[in-house]
Amino acid sequence: MNLILFGPPGAGKGTQAELLQKRYALAKLSTGDMLRSAPAALAGLVKGYMQKGELVPDDVIIAIIKARIDEKDCAKGFILDGFPRTKAQAEALEGMLHAEGKHLDYVIELAVDDKKLVERITGRFSCAKCGAGYHDIFKQPRKLGICDECAATEFTRREDDKVETVAKRLEVYHRQTAPILDYYRAQAGQGALAYIHVNGMLPIEEVTGVIDAALQAEKKIAENG
Ligand code: AMP
Repeated sequence: MNLILFGPPGAGKGTQAELLQKRYALAKLSTGDMLRSAPAALAGLVKGYMQKGELVPDDVIIAIIKARIDEKDCAKGFILDGFPRTKAQAEALEGMLHAEGKHLDYVIELAVDDKKLVERITGRFSCAKCGAGYHDIFKQPRKLGICDECAATEFTRREDDKVETVAKRLEVYHRQTAPILDYYRAQAGQGALAYIHVNGMLPIEEVTGVIDAALQAEKKIAENG
């Protein structure tokens, strides 16, 4: 099962990708995470774009995904989180999957209002040691200042989660990324994949429940022909 989690920054793609990864034993391919932990040469190349909230060039990100999809753990299926973000990336993905006899099964859109997104993104922080995610309003550590997962006391905030950069990231999403939803809706119309629209404003567990139910329902339809 190969799927895309689609939606603006802060829609909850990373959170849902992590839950789905565990539930369905899929590889999780988060391009943002890959870029943030990239080797120095690549990190230097993409840093400027990321700090400004702009997209890194298509050829760079396509090469990264192409190499990653070829890795062994992707054979059983993968979740794309943060890719594709442009029409050129969507087309390149289709080409690389086709060349390997693979295809996309699902595109899951998490829809969230821009106002809510700004509140969600600007409040996020994470454990500097294990990366566990928290939020100023929605999810403080159980003991203030101490990570629930590893008891570390240092936390970090993403540089591009500042309010000015978030505005740019949302603008980029609406201008460059959202239009490719039409591309996938058209493919769903032709029966090439299943398109699942989810209200990403719901609490995390409810979003997971809706995705799960939709995946199960689609599986049944596929099984019954
Ligand atoms: P994310 O963690 O998904 O919000 O991504 C953080 C940043 O990484 C984005 O604002 C872009 O600068 C860059 N990035 C991540 N994925 C892509 C992609 N598919 N295409 C271009 N840039 C990307």
